[in-house]
Amino acid sequence: MAKGQALLDAYDYAHGRMDYAVTTSAPTEEKVKRGNALKEARQAVIDAIDNPPARTCKWSQDGYYDEDNGKWNTSCGESFYLSDGTPNENSMKFCPFCGARIESED
Ligand SMILES: [Zn+2]
Repeated sequence: MAKGQALLDAYDYAHGRMDYAVTTSAPTEEKVKRGNALKEARQAVIDAIDNPPARTCKWSQDGYYDEDNGKWNTSCGESFYLSDGTPNENSMKFCPFCGARIESED
């Protein structure tokens, strides 16, 4: 079973035990609406856990000036200075601005 579905099943089990007494009343339009919204939200959570987007942040240097000064431009719109080497040579794995995995020209 996929990780996201297993997580939600565990939640449902715990929630169901707590809510058993109050869920036996007749369904109303409001309850059905909320139920459908909850179903959509649950599916979004399953999708996000099972298929996380592969986010990357591209770090690059624009020409000699950047290379000489150790300036790296990030694809999320920031810049960062390294005194020596590339992000990879400095063991940097994730962008400190957006949190995505760093992809740089080495
Ligand atoms: Zn970034």
